[in-house]
Amino acid sequence: MIIVMQAGTAPADLDRVVARVEALKLRPHVIVGTERTVVAVVGDERDAMGAGFEMLPGVASVLPILAPYKVASREVQAEPTIVTAGPLVVGGKSIGVIAGPCSVESSEQIVGTARAVKAAGATGLRGGAFKPRTSPYSFQGMKERGLELLAEARAETGLAIVTEVVAPEDVPLVVQYADVLQVGARNMQNYRLLEAVGRTQTPVLLKRGPAATVEELLLAAEYILDAGNRQVMLCERGIRTFEAHTRFTLPLATVPWLHARTHLPVVVDPSHGTGHANLVESMAAASVAAGADGLIIEVHPDPKCASSDGAQTLDFAAFERMMQVCRRVAEAVGRTLA
Ligand code: PEP
Ligand code: MN
Repeated sequence: MIIVMQAGTAPADLDRVVARVEALKLRPHVIVGTERTVVAVVGDERDAMGAGFEMLPGVASVLPILAPYKVASREVQAEPTIVTAGPLVVGGKSIGVIAGPCSVESSEQIVGTARAVKAAGATGLRGGAFKPRTSPYSFQGMKERGLELLAEARAETGLAIVTEVVAPEDVPLVVQYADVLQVGARNMQNYRLLEAVGRTQTPVLLKRGPAATVEELLLAAEYILDAGNRQVMLCERGIRTFEAHTRFTLPLATVPWLHARTHLPVVVDPSHGTGHANLVESMAAASVAAGADGLIIEVHPDPKCASSDGAQTLDFAAFERMMQVCRRVAEAVGRTLA
């Protein structure tokens, strides 16, 4: 249910509405927009529609939220959410670019990559310290040492650090280093992890599960929003289909579809989405043309020697070329690529 407040409502009227919602054992999410303030009421709202909210001072109207995802829905917030983490700005006019290796491997590797991607125009540095690998025998990441190396790269370059957290018990450690917490595709429906990142105030990059529908992605985002963290980015990273010419199938219609239904920004990952370095530039450009608010790209000083995902990873020169192409496309669609 959405309680729409009158323009210029007194704070006391808003407080009264919030208190009444809490008294009904429901959760109020106050969303202050440029034109109106609304209170999205979530929980089992069956009794709330008949609770007389329309009679309270300052209330303009009371409406049901039709979408199953509530706080993520455009119905409650018409303006796009802009996620900001240091220099990284994702959403609105700005297309944020996050680049870096699949895994953190060494100081030289991560600091060198940070310098190169920054010079090419990225504002976020990705790098996995805790890696969710399909095989238990594959490289699992440098863990806390990897986080320290990411912090070193941030100290050198100022880039925002985007790194994955794979388990709820690791959240207190990873938030000490990360500017953005990545929830990986394999964990999109790990609801305890979603709640744990939702209790932080660190922005979250939520990747779509390879077998999840976009509606399930939005409901996963809703767990984070409902726990209190509004800085959520959705990430299309490709889905599993019968098709085998690419590692996953990257459906870019997701981007405008999501924009029509949610205010949350949408990031595209053409590295995992294709699995092939030679397809990344085209699909990054196509993502920008389709309205993506951000890109996350795997970049390594020497992709053939990368300890994970080398086949889909760009070297510095290829990343620089990709940025030039994407910048021109961004300009053509009225956006700026940072
Ligand atoms: C990654 O970003 O390196 C990663 C593991 O991605 P995904 O969760 O999309 O597979
Ligand atoms: Mn990877």
